[in-house]
Amino acid sequence: MKVYEHFPLKAWNTFSMDVKARYFAEYDTKDELCELLKQFANEKILHIGCGSNLLFLNDYDGVILHSNITGAEKLHETDNEVLLKVGAGVVFDSAISYMLERGWGGAENLSDIPGEVGASAVQNIGAYGVEVKDIIHHVETIERKTLLPRVFGVAECRYGYRDSIFKNELKDEYIVTAVVFRLQKHAELHLDYGNIRQELQHIEHPTISDVRHAVITIRRQKLPAVSEAGSAGSFFKNPIVSVEKFAELQASYPDIPHYESGNGVKVPAAWLIDKSGMKGKKIGGAMVYEKQPLVIVNTGDAVPEDVVKLAEKVQKKIYSEFGIKIEPEVNYIS
Ligand SMILES: Cc1cc2nc3c(=O)[nH]c(=O)nc-3n(C[C@H](O)[C@H](O)[C@H](O)COP(=O)(O)OP(=O)(O)OC[C@H]3O[C@@H](n4cnc5c(N)ncnc54)[C@H](O)[C@@H]3O)c2cc1C
Repeated sequence: MKVYEHFPLKAWNTFSMDVKARYFAEYDTKDELCELLKQFANEKILHIGCGSNLLFLNDYDGVILHSNITGAEKLHETDNEVLLKVGAGVVFDSAISYMLERGWGGAENLSDIPGEVGASAVQNIGAYGVEVKDIIHHVETIERKTLLPRVFGVAECRYGYRDSIFKNELKDEYIVTAVVFRLQKHAELHLDYGNIRQELQHIEHPTISDVRHAVITIRRQKLPAVSEAGSAGSFFKNPIVSVEKFAELQASYPDIPHYESGNGVKVPAAWLIDKSGMKGKKIGGAMVYEKQPLVIVNTGDAVPEDVVKLAEKVQKKIYSEFGIKIEPEVNYIS
């Protein structure tokens, strides 16, 4: 267990915001986590993973916690399925490699998403037609107030689009210590989202590993490598509009892309931003990324205010052009 004071966070957020934390503490076990929670019971606490979905607005006047709980353990196996428990501090993409090396499918479409296993279950990460909730069996946590362990079955996590109970009713109340994934030995491939099928056209019988490689290839053409330009991935959520609103939009824009969504129609925010002419627009060091306008990048010297102002400008423009409110996917931290 290590505790640091006045800790620089630049390397701990993929936007590369140059801010500091009053305290930064890392732990290796659940017991160490409980010790830290007792020690800092009266402080403001934020638990982070890789900081790939955070926008620090200023220095953090509290304690930042980070998990080093790693490891993977097979809990149960049948002819068709495996239950695999993975520590919250494991990098999610390494967990996928581990799964695929053993022939266990389900997570391949989520390849190359930055971040750790603990955060994946908070965020309900998703890509290429799959969300992590589709492969979560249960989530192991510690309650911050009582220090007691609690297991959440997948239904109890109330997953929605990039959403969970841990971002709403129980925000900041539980720390994820491990996630148990339910994986398939004869996985059904999800190829009908984005360009996956096109990327795999030369392979007659693609495997889960082929899907992973296709997803990685496609993502790297579109998304900036964090080492090249800081970002937090998609800055905005794709809005879901009513069927009536969508019909109205389609009358004006017959080519508008869309996906059926349980309670309405999902419209890609990237298309709206592109159409609104905001691609490439800059405020200070923040810029709407040219190749993927859903992403705001730090071109080198952005301060938090630049990103906030640019995001507001994009939101206003989308509202005035299309009458749609787009919401940030990124967590603002103050
Ligand atoms: C280039 C790029 C591409 C991206 N692509 C995608 C994508 O395709 N799909 C997608 O869904 N996301 C994407 N993201 C966003 C990001 O990768 C995910 O949101 C990821 O889950 C964040 O993980 P993290 O470990 O960095 O968490 P952080 O950003 O550090 O934290 C995210 C949230 O989780 C909470 N949290 C973290 N760990 C724990 C824990 N152990 N217990 C309780 N709460 C915790 C934090 O408090 C915070 O609220 C992308 C980001 C980048 C930079």
